[in-house]
Amino acid sequence: MATDHDYYAILGVPRTASDAEIKRAFRKLAQKWHPDVNKDPAAAERFKEINEAYQVLSDPRRRQAYDMFGRAGVTGDAGEGGFGFATGFGGFGGFGDIFDAFFGGAAGPVRRAQPVAGSDLRYDLRISFEEAVLGTEKEIEFSALARCPTCGGSGARPGTSPVTCPVCSGRGEVRTVRQTLLGQMMTATTCPRCRGEGRVVETPCETCRGDGRVERRRKLRVAIPAGIDDGHQIRLSNEGEVGPRGGPPGSLYVAVHVAPHPVLRREGTELYAEVDVSIAQAALGTKVTVPTVEGDEEIEIRPGTQPGTEIRLRGRGVPHLRRPNQRGDLHVLVNVVVPTRLTKKQRELLEAYAREAGEAVGTNGGLLERVKEALG
Ligand SMILES: [Zn+2]
Ligand SMILES: [Zn+2]
Repeated sequence: MATDHDYYAILGVPRTASDAEIKRAFRKLAQKWHPDVNKDPAAAERFKEINEAYQVLSDPRRRQAYDMFGRAGVTGDAGEGGFGFATGFGGFGGFGDIFDAFFGGAAGPVRRAQPVAGSDLRYDLRISFEEAVLGTEKEIEFSALARCPTCGGSGARPGTSPVTCPVCSGRGEVRTVRQTLLGQMMTATTCPRCRGEGRVVETPCETCRGDGRVERRRKLRVAIPAGIDDGHQIRLSNEGEVGPRGGPPGSLYVAVHVAPHPVLRREGTELYAEVDVSIAQAALGTKVTVPTVEGDEEIEIRPGTQPGTEIRLRGRGVPHLRRPNQRGDLHVLVNVVVPTRLTKKQRELLEAYAREAGEAVGTNGGLLERVKEALG
């Protein structure tokens, strides 16, 4: 079954290949040439070759012997240097390796279960309108599961350590092989003993009862970027809950709630305000005070300003969240308010104004209105 081919050539790796490279090359080839997958009659022979090369190159001692003496260095001595092909898996060696080839195991010879990650957390943060526009920094305080200080997160009583799960040998999953008409069927399920973690705590830490975590109050300073808006979330990776028994932490999501402003209205990077002026102010011009996020500001209403005029204060809106040096505008809408109640003197003056302008004034209801006013 063996050929004179070079083992490195068979696996398609350089002589300097690392264990991981050899492993990877073998897995790729095995997936292609395994006789269960590849129905080409030559596949079985090819697979044996690949397997033989791998058995030697994956074993540091045999690889060294092969590098020094060639195939003669690793064959012939069935007791020490044999390939162990008689493991009963259809004549192919390395039961675990073939599993690994098909289940895409990690770099090591045994697939290691991954520790369970901690949950993400959400913190609701209320900020003012101005803080959202200009940016700020907030200190937040919350309770979350953190690493247990007694056991350092392992869950094992100090002086002891978690052991490889005896049920799954640290794989975190239990694999079963069944013979079916279509060939071998392999199924993998999460190991019930270690719940997929691959390790079990036999003597639990008394502080955390083996979980590796305890509830702890934490304080964090959160930078709130200028331009953030109501409903945005800030993600702080690794600031969430830690996972059980040394699992990595989740993320903390800070959900931002922005209080409304009494006068200013926001749409993206633009701010809107309305100011009321009287007819006389609109006609004669005046100065009015407008609130901005930086404080009140006096703006000029030019003589002859029409109702609905927009005065734009450039660059006084909201900074763009991702391009902070770009900032929107503050749009000030001028309302011209027509008086509904007039004093006697005001009425006389407006009537005089109308006469001067040659305008007809007064309606049929005018008299009644006047009576009402006199009585009210
Ligand atoms: Zn503990
Ligand atoms: Zn297990």
